[in-house]
Amino acid sequence: MKIAILTIEPNSYSIQRLKAEGEDHGHEVDVIDTLHCYMDITSSRPTVRYHGQELPRYDAVIPRISAAIMFYGTAVARQFEVMGTFNVNESVAISRSRDKLRSLQLLSRKGIGLPRTGFANKPDDIKDLIRNVGGAPVVIKLLEGTQGIGVVLAGTAKAAESIIEAFMGLQANILVQEFIKEANGAAIRCLIVGGKVVAAMKRQSSEGDFRSNLHLSNTAEVFKLSKSERETAIKAAKVIGLNLCSVDLLQSKNGPMVIEVNSSPGLQAIEKATGKNVAAMVIKFIEKNAKPNSNKTHGQG
Ligand code: ADP
Repeated sequence: MKIAILTIEPNSYSIQRLKAEGEDHGHEVDVIDTLHCYMDITSSRPTVRYHGQELPRYDAVIPRISAAIMFYGTAVARQFEVMGTFNVNESVAISRSRDKLRSLQLLSRKGIGLPRTGFANKPDDIKDLIRNVGGAPVVIKLLEGTQGIGVVLAGTAKAAESIIEAFMGLQANILVQEFIKEANGAAIRCLIVGGKVVAAMKRQSSEGDFRSNLHLSNTAEVFKLSKSERETAIKAAKVIGLNLCSVDLLQSKNGPMVIEVNSSPGLQAIEKATGKNVAAMVIKFIEKNAKPNSNKTHGQG
């Protein structure tokens, strides 16, 4: 098979692992810089061009679209879908997962466990926004944040009000979320490939922080999921429409709660913590599923 990996980080662990496993399985794997692709958008013969040449017809594309290049990256992924190439994660699903608000809305519609979350643009009544998610302490999140940056814990209603006002003054979009205290600074990361949890680890915060994904000194160890944790993670991936993703869960007194679905999960920490060969599972998924024109949306939406 001919497989392309779209990325702006060709030397990262995840990309190197996917390439190595693809080649070990006898495939040809090209690592392509997403930002250097340009597109010929015609109805007769749409193509993707790269360094002055038309890219070959790939059997499958693994799009690793980071937050920084969401707009252009999803357009390139979509172009491959338009051409009928099998995309491991469809562009529309990548866009859904990148937008925290949109994904929480989709998950809530399907009854998946979530922390109570409020969202507002110009709330007339910030106190009510805070009360509505159960009152302080609350977690305030920048919609555009990643890896714990822009996630703040406000211990009191007064602190929450000031933080919300400050963010709003900067025209930032934010979520206000119930603080799941009993998670104790830990989160469960489930790695999903093709509708199955193939690896799971528990990450624990350190240095008195509540964010499990921030510091290098945080610990990560293999974790055995309960039935409801496993079901929640699988359902969340399905609702967002991602074949390859991570689903982060908090363990709450009301059962597992999803906080994030990520369409480009890093493989290093999870492979190290669990000893699982996640990259090989991605390649096996492609071998089984990559058929031309088999994406659901064909680049629409
Ligand atoms: P990011 O997308 O920036 O990584 P997350 O929503 O994943 O932001 O939050 C970062 C970390 O903060 C999580 O891994 C988790 O440990 C902690 N966290 C996030 N939301 C909550 C919450 N509502 N209650 C308790 N802890 C939370």
